[in-house]
Amino acid sequence: MLYIVPTPIGNLRDITLRALDVLQACDAVLCEDTRRTQTLLTHFNIHKPLYRYNENDERSVQRCLEALQAGKNCALVSDCGTPCISDPGWKLVKAAVAAGIAVTSLPGPSAVACALAGAGLTGGAFTFLGFLPRKPGKAAKLLQGAAQLHHPVVVYESPYRVIKMLELIAATLGENIPVVAARELSKVYEEYARGTAAELAKLFAQKKKVQGEFVLIIDCFDAQEEEYESDEDL
Ligand code: SAM
Repeated sequence: MLYIVPTPIGNLRDITLRALDVLQACDAVLCEDTRRTQTLLTHFNIHKPLYRYNENDERSVQRCLEALQAGKNCALVSDCGTPCISDPGWKLVKAAVAAGIAVTSLPGPSAVACALAGAGLTGGAFTFLGFLPRKPGKAAKLLQGAAQLHHPVVVYESPYRVIKMLELIAATLGENIPVVAARELSKVYEEYARGTAAELAKLFAQKKKVQGEFVLIIDCFDAQEEEYESDEDL
């Protein structure tokens, strides 16, 4: 059995009781980075064999699959949050499904859900783009396409590139487009910075050092468009 196990995105107390049960009971933990996962498991006094899982290394996918085929119960974790969400895992899940191995996915922490709930921009549809491509042209094209759906658009970004990303959002979708920048979620310095893309780019550029991981939620919601769409439904 393959268990997909979400782990905290900052606050260790966000691990679920069920995640701990699975980690405690499994035969092996498949992980991105053995040192990081070892630290997490040690914190919870769990001691398990760790298999490094690297999605770009076919042999490592195969090794994990063989463990599952041998009847081992394996827990798949990533460095933080939910595996397979802008993180490794989907190739193994796909291979396990194809091999007829039972797969179960535990609910738990994920930065996209956490940020979206705190942003207060929608309770309905949104478009999640994960990490946008490094090439500005490609990133702009994806943003434009997603914006046309008139739902909030969510992207992941690192502190090193967040200013450039906000500038790109301003250049692509207009500098007055509203954005919520959710930073350091569940950590001591958690922050939801709200403003236009241009204002937030300026705000972070003024800081000596931008710290923490970011989720950017771009408010592409268009009330008029929504009204028009629901009229059409009638
Ligand atoms: N699998 C994870 C999930 O379920 O959210 C995402 C992993 S991805 C490699 C890491 C990115 O998630 C970061 O660059 C950031 O955009 C976002 N992220 C993770 N933890 C975060 C946090 N505590 N606050 C804000 N964003 C976070």
